[in-house]
Amino acid sequence: MSFSSLGLSDAIVRAVTEHGYTVPTPIQTQAIPAVLGGGDLLAGAQTGTGKTAGFTLPILHRLSTDANGAALVSNTSTRAIRALILTPTRELAAQVEESVRVYGKYTKLNSAVIFGGVGINPQIKQLKHGVDILVATPGRLLDHMGQGTVDLSKIEILILDEADRMLDMGFIRDIKKVLAVLPPKRQNLLFSATFSEEIKALADGLLNKPAMIEVARRNSTVEVIAQKIHPVDRDKKHPMLSYLIKSNNWTQVLVFTRTKHGANKLVEQLGADGIGALAIHGNKSQSARTRALSEFKDGTLQVLVATDIAARGIDIDQLPHVVNYDLPNIPEDYVHRIGRTGRAGATGEAVSLVCVDEHEMLKDIEKLIKQTLPRQVLPGFEPDLNARAQPVQLRSGTGGHRNARPAGTVVRVKAAGGGAKPRSGGGGGGGGGGNGGGAGRSSAPRSAANHRSGGRGR
Ligand code: AMP
Repeated sequence: MSFSSLGLSDAIVRAVTEHGYTVPTPIQTQAIPAVLGGGDLLAGAQTGTGKTAGFTLPILHRLSTDANGAALVSNTSTRAIRALILTPTRELAAQVEESVRVYGKYTKLNSAVIFGGVGINPQIKQLKHGVDILVATPGRLLDHMGQGTVDLSKIEILILDEADRMLDMGFIRDIKKVLAVLPPKRQNLLFSATFSEEIKALADGLLNKPAMIEVARRNSTVEVIAQKIHPVDRDKKHPMLSYLIKSNNWTQVLVFTRTKHGANKLVEQLGADGIGALAIHGNKSQSARTRALSEFKDGTLQVLVATDIAARGIDIDQLPHVVNYDLPNIPEDYVHRIGRTGRAGATGEAVSLVCVDEHEMLKDIEKLIKQTLPRQVLPGFEPDLNARAQPVQLRSGTGGHRNARPAGTVVRVKAAGGGAKPRSGGGGGGGGGGNGGGAGRSSAPRSAANHRSGGRGR
């Protein structure tokens, strides 16, 4: 199975292929032909399944080609919003719009993302300029509707992404207000990870003889520990970390750096930003380490910066947030690091700040964990796509060898809900903890995590 055999135009297949995807995921295999057919769709799929490309690829195709599949010449002077994608959170909105841009780069279509928490005026300007595909969170979209700065009268396709989370977050009334101004004749796609009575009621009112597809949930680390990659420029990592900590009100964050020097430098930089941080690594005295650790555990220290070796053998796990400030050059270390997040019954969050120098490491990690981790470009921290990779400094003390783990090291890995397991040399003795393997994904832990991270879409 290939993307072109699903009926997508050359322009779209080329962009997808360049992005590194050659084989459609199960949700894509089913959703793409259904959406290309023009009918409504009810899809049961969650993050990690490839659902975003499952709807962005066929809508890009539909909007950029005529009935015979030939490329349409778009008239930029009469551009109108033809597709509207609603998402529950700012983060998801930004991520979806990024996908639209990446996959649509060889089409003439353009896109915009609007969400709250940032100035409305640049958004107004962008909307005035003309947008084909709009990604929005419901609250800010309503603000624009109230001000008359968005015209939804030409919508041909509506997508509700993560509809269950939107309902969990109380957006049903906002959604209904949006639906009320859309043209009645349109294609509707509804994506949801779960199907409560409320979702069924929404689907009944919205969808006309929908195709129904559902892909199986994957029982893996990603279900329990929300993992995310933030692509970022090398020299923007520190401001991005301060931004993440402050904007999300993270109070207990374990940050991993590759080198001792990097750890020290980061502690100073965070301190200058008013964020309390201490480092633990091999050059620190035992008493300094013990103090840092106990302050971190009792909550008086906001950020603990650690190197992999220093973090081994010490009893810190069950943290809400782990940040990979640098990716580890030994892929297994990634699993060990993120195994420290997650509290019993709730979702932990592991974010990695990845610059161009670390793309190979990321590939190795994804190969090991057999997952493609979701990328999310943060607005204001868009990486320079022309940046060239530079050699990274491997951590001190290992001589830079990839498999330089000291023999006999025992690594405590929290078996998060049956997910993260050490591949080698690990103890795995941390015990269950998770939420029952993640298979019974209840919306509660995820939406709780979402509220915690302040990601509400208004
Ligand atoms: P999503 O479920 O849309 O959040 O996607 C999860 C991750 O899978 C994202 O990082 C995508 O970039 C990636 N992805 C989407 N489609 C494919 C594919 N066909 N092959 C490999 N990775 C994919």
